[in-house]
Amino acid sequence: MKAAPFSYVRPTSPEGVLAELSLAQGEAKIIAGGQSLMPVLAMRLGRPPTLVDISRVPAWQHIEVGAHVVRIGTAVRQRAVERHPDLRVPLLSRALPWIGHREIRSRGTVCGSLAHADPASELPAVMLTLGARLGITGPAGDRELLAEEFFRGAMTTALEPGEVLRYVTVPRARRGQGFGFAEMARRHGDFALVGITTMVQTEGDRVVQALLGAFGVADRPRLLDVTEIVAEPLRTAADTDAPAAVAEALTDAARELVTTGGDKHASAGYRRRLVRVLGGRELVAAFHDSRKGQSR
Ligand SMILES: Cc1cc2nc3c(=O)[nH]c(=O)nc-3n(C[C@H](O)[C@H](O)[C@H](O)COP(=O)(O)OP(=O)(O)OC[C@H]3O[C@@H](n4cnc5c(N)ncnc54)[C@H](O)[C@@H]3O)c2cc1C
Repeated sequence: MKAAPFSYVRPTSPEGVLAELSLAQGEAKIIAGGQSLMPVLAMRLGRPPTLVDISRVPAWQHIEVGAHVVRIGTAVRQRAVERHPDLRVPLLSRALPWIGHREIRSRGTVCGSLAHADPASELPAVMLTLGARLGITGPAGDRELLAEEFFRGAMTTALEPGEVLRYVTVPRARRGQGFGFAEMARRHGDFALVGITTMVQTEGDRVVQALLGAFGVADRPRLLDVTEIVAEPLRTAADTDAPAAVAEALTDAARELVTTGGDKHASAGYRRRLVRVLGGRELVAAFHDSRKGQSR
């Protein structure tokens, strides 16, 4: 099937993008890398009369690396972030290679993935776990939201018609932080059945904070603070290098995180089991990583 007819504009300034969006009175669609939008158009699941291409706006093509945060402009491709030599955002670097295939990441943008908000996507869960901030610009001006405020449901975000997700700001790894990432998919490059993101912060042997994120488990990425329930099992697991006790401690957390029903690929019960097993493993990995990170 072919896409329904549409007009196509490619402004080269932020003002030009906003003007085109305003002209279309909420009917236009932004196109960034096109890796999610084009299949939607080709299947005629959407028929926007106008596409506003934001990929040629120089002001939006930068990765800015500061002392404590990295800011990724809206037109930055996923592959450019993956290949950046000095990000120091380990969770993001670990997750990126799991997105589709290299060719898809060479076109797809980080912000496009966030705006698309597929519940089985890696990047929304990464941003939620890291407490990233998303910069939005639109007819009413600029605003910034935390990732937890941005994702509202399956393919649904806080973006209003006429607004553009302009950047995402991600904290760089701090002293004593460690991270883990894992996903289970039917084939490499497929969307995840279940994915896990973890962050553990330690001071000496003490677990200060432990976060467990999950995607592919609900209508949006989920995050739980599991410090209380895993602090002790984590210290034991680190000595014996056996994550089973941590996984066991996550039984209730897995029940809370997985709210999706089963589908033809996996039952809800199987997804809960994956959350426990992968979550336990990646919390232990993050714990070890955090001890190395104490010299950061
Ligand atoms: C075969 C295949 C496999 C894939 N596998 C995965 C996978 O495993 N994991 C994964 O996460 N993704 C996967 N993807 C999707 C891919 O990561 C996309 O690149 C990404 O979801 C969207 O980024 P994009 O830049 O291509 O956005 P586009 O496709 O251009 O846009 C997607 C949506 O977001 C909106 N949008 C884009 N940018 C903005 C903005 N700045 N402000 C407001 N709205 C905006 C568009 O209007 C559109 O509705 C896959 C895609 C394909 C084709």
